[in-house]
Amino acid sequence: MADGVIREIGDNLAAEADVDIDAHGLIALPGLVDLHTHLREPGREDAETVLTGTQAAARGGYTAVHAMANTFPVADTAGVVEQVWRLGQESGYCDVQPVGAVTVGLEGKKLAELGAMHDSAAGVRVFSDDGKCVDDAVIMRRALEYVKAFDGVVAQHAQEPRLTEGAQMNEGQVSGELGLGGWPAVAEEAIIARDVLLAAHVGSRLHICHVSTAGSVEIVRWAKAKGWNVTAEVTPHHLLLTDELVRTYDPVYKVNPPLRTAADVEALRAALADGTIDAVATDHAPHPAEDKDCEWAVAAMGMVGLETALSVVQQTMVDTGLLTWEHVADRMSYRPARIGRLTGQGRPISVGEPANLVLFDPAYRGAVDPDTFATRSRNTPYRGLDLPGRVHATFLRGRATVLAGDLADRDGLA
Ligand SMILES: [Zn+2]
Repeated sequence: MADGVIREIGDNLAAEADVDIDAHGLIALPGLVDLHTHLREPGREDAETVLTGTQAAARGGYTAVHAMANTFPVADTAGVVEQVWRLGQESGYCDVQPVGAVTVGLEGKKLAELGAMHDSAAGVRVFSDDGKCVDDAVIMRRALEYVKAFDGVVAQHAQEPRLTEGAQMNEGQVSGELGLGGWPAVAEEAIIARDVLLAAHVGSRLHICHVSTAGSVEIVRWAKAKGWNVTAEVTPHHLLLTDELVRTYDPVYKVNPPLRTAADVEALRAALADGTIDAVATDHAPHPAEDKDCEWAVAAMGMVGLETALSVVQQTMVDTGLLTWEHVADRMSYRPARIGRLTGQGRPISVGEPANLVLFDPAYRGAVDPDTFATRSRNTPYRGLDLPGRVHATFLRGRATVLAGDLADRDGLA
């Protein structure tokens, strides 16, 4: 690698190198791209900052993340998305592509300045009210129509609000036994069904965030069979964990959409394997201890995920024989970059391509220790769990952001 690109590939290269890495036994993947990251800055710097979030991303093998818009203030103007974009540039650990809000203040009432955010230095192409659903069908239709002008995409957090009032966990047998308010699968599936029809009707591009039920998979599969421009993502935690864990009442398992059943997990894995679900997206949602270490009913929803995503994917998809590493590159780098229309990310490992790479050690075994995390928050559901694999090194345009498992010095990135 030289001057930010891959210069030569082969055995016994003649070139002199500043850094030589013994990559024996490691898997080389294109730098990972996350479509769904909560970096929390501006406004909740006690949970995460752009700097700590991008450091966590680098440690997870990511070279680009999409920063969700539910900050304080909300990223619903050119000014806020440019601020986040600039903070990403300054961090140097990972490219940060801001996501713009669909509606002003995420209130679902009035379209935000989508065009101005696209035309800004941040060049926003993905719009989402994530955390909230764009539930008004007319607003959703207008947003889909608007983004067509610049090949943008609306990323929907599919949650019918009336059906999920007071919801605490997946609606099913476990919620019945525990007496907790249920978040029914139909609240997700009804919105997805409506939105794929809307996207088809206006001929626009729709992305579904964190698909979590078997029924959602069926609707996405149907929409794709129709040839409609619909893509979908799944989180690592929905590929591994089920609502049985809520029996512990440990709020680390409280997340939106909620952990579902084993049958849903199986359907999600199959859909990621056959390409119905396009991408793995972390929904990295850092929260400070005071918002998570409390009783279930009042705890915040969400879990951190950047630093464990690839290990969870190895365990659930690669070690089970559902995906090859080449497929992992597709679902965690190529396709998310294409959905976000990122140039210079999600490119194959070939001569002349940007040197965005991760070297991953799939043979590593060790318990997850949140105290080693770079993220500012500790709300991981995998604490103490043995997960396979570890990121050995990450390169962003040829510069090591992680080497031998450790973050590079910020000065060294300059
Ligand atoms: Zn969401």
